[in-house]
Amino acid sequence: MAGVMRGALLWASRNRWLRKRVPRYRFVRRTVTRFMPGEQIQDALAAARLLEGQGLGTVLTHLGEDVADPAEADAVTRHYAGALGRIRSAGLNSTLSVKLTHLGLGLSLQLCQANLERILQQSNSKDTVWIDMEASPYVDATLDLYRRVRRTYANVGVCLQSYLYRTADDLASLLPLGPAIRLVKGAYLEARDRAFPRKRDVDENFFVLAQTLFGSEAQSAGTRTVIATHDRKLIRRIEDLARSRGLTREHFQFQMLYGIQRQEQLRLAKDGWQSSVLISYGTYWFPWFMRRLAERPANLAFLARNLISG
Ligand SMILES: Cc1cc2nc3c(=O)[nH]c(=O)nc-3n(C[C@H](O)[C@H](O)[C@H](O)COP(=O)(O)OP(=O)(O)OC[C@H]3O[C@@H](n4cnc5c(N)ncnc54)[C@H](O)[C@@H]3O)c2cc1C
Repeated sequence: MAGVMRGALLWASRNRWLRKRVPRYRFVRRTVTRFMPGEQIQDALAAARLLEGQGLGTVLTHLGEDVADPAEADAVTRHYAGALGRIRSAGLNSTLSVKLTHLGLGLSLQLCQANLERILQQSNSKDTVWIDMEASPYVDATLDLYRRVRRTYANVGVCLQSYLYRTADDLASLLPLGPAIRLVKGAYLEARDRAFPRKRDVDENFFVLAQTLFGSEAQSAGTRTVIATHDRKLIRRIEDLARSRGLTREHFQFQMLYGIQRQEQLRLAKDGWQSSVLISYGTYWFPWFMRRLAERPANLAFLARNLISG
């Protein structure tokens, strides 16, 4: 049943008709505020400041994907370059995470690479700029582009998804680069011939991939790891694994999404780990919001409560 609901919500996330209409409803907009502090960058910066005061790092992402023309991709690139300036002038310890289809990957790899490099040129070499991983048709192009920019920029990282069968091979092929990898379970609707259909296999593969990331080959290549999950059982296993390998907060960090498992985010920071929060902002939130609902269908009850309370 949960699988059917997840499939329906992920289907809805790609539906243009719903995308145009659903965001008009006030109860939906109210529910979205659980997962993002606001639509404007200043909302994200204000939230980042509060979280920093609680010992948490932050990563900002401007919502959007699949731009239709180069001018739109250019505007997104300029926005991100400006965002880095705003982060710096606010004195925040924050970085960015970008979707390549938002920078024009669907239009041209060269255009997208040039846009990504414009952002990287503005970045501080100490802070990793993250590349999100989108649906499986984009994985090859995303990794290709990652390899190209990694030659010039050490401070660029890419996300890998444990639900894909191919990820173990992708990770092995990236290790010689000394990559920065953000490991997630995966948020898109994928066919059974590409992704593990059973959640417990996705979870177990996450742990296996974490073992590779914490292993001697990855560590001696200088791999930097982000464990991006809200799964407390998995987090405990990974904390134990890190301790058994003698890894400390310098070697890896945990990341979660804004508004999810807040106590666990703070607990990890209190226990001495690096713990960061990914904050989304922007007006193009419908597909992203549907993916958040799909991750936890119980969120639909929250949506329903907001409908009833007017
Ligand atoms: C920092 C970060 C970056 C990400 N980047 C990408 C990316 O680039 N590409 C990609 O495909 N996916 C990305 N994701 C999403 C990821 O793939 C998962 O869909 C998402 O994190 C849910 O899986 P989970 O690991 O938390 O585990 P799950 O087993 O799904 O969840 C574990 C527990 O966490 C809580 N939880 C999880 N999700 C929610 C939610 N939406 N609302 C309320 N509670 C929830 C619930 O208590 C649940 O029982 C990212 C996630 C994070 C944290």
